[in-house]
Amino acid sequence: MISVKLLEADDKTVKVELEGVPLSIANAIRRFTINEVPTMAVEEILLIENTSAMPNDVLAHRISLIPFKSDIDRYVPPEECNCGSRLGCDKCAVRYILRAEAKDEPITVYSGDMIPEDPTTTAKPVSPKIPIVKLAPGQRIEMELYVRVGRGRKNAKWQAAISSLYESKNGDPNKRILYVESIGFLPPKRILIEAAKALEKKTSEFEEKFSKLLEELKAN
Ligand SMILES: [Zn+2]
Repeated sequence: MISVKLLEADDKTVKVELEGVPLSIANAIRRFTINEVPTMAVEEILLIENTSAMPNDVLAHRISLIPFKSDIDRYVPPEECNCGSRLGCDKCAVRYILRAEAKDEPITVYSGDMIPEDPTTTAKPVSPKIPIVKLAPGQRIEMELYVRVGRGRKNAKWQAAISSLYESKNGDPNKRILYVESIGFLPPKRILIEAAKALEKKTSEFEEKFSKLLEELKAN
């Protein structure tokens, strides 16, 4: 039997003690909190105009690093959606418009200036105060942004957490501490649950593949 004890939790971090969990499994869970938990970020950008001093690719990169509050109950990853559309549908993409222009004074464009096409969307930047670009008088930017569900394994911009695993202070080799710090996409407790779900999914895939393989062997 394994046991899991909650040691500490707040809105950014969670610390649990794992007992009776093999190191390889504990490590898999740790890595899954980083790489396999679905989160939401800007995946695709249709650039309409950029007369700022920032090159297009730098601007696109900055925008892609903005974490979104990730409503993974409402939105699915593109590969799990059956719409087949490159830019997605209302289940697998949230379209945002970013349009800003400096008139007489220089301005800073923030994450809060991105406007969702669907005002009821629950996928929003974690903060409206993340600076994106400065515009001098006369400069403007305009673009469409497609926010989508992804995983850290596909691109680091979707990385859900920073996590570490260490031995229990009391020296019991059977106990380990898993510490998870959320990047902000999801509450830390949700990250733990999603990591466990992802591990379960992978193991059931193994079960399926092995069974199929053995069936094939029998048939030959
Ligand atoms: Zn879709």
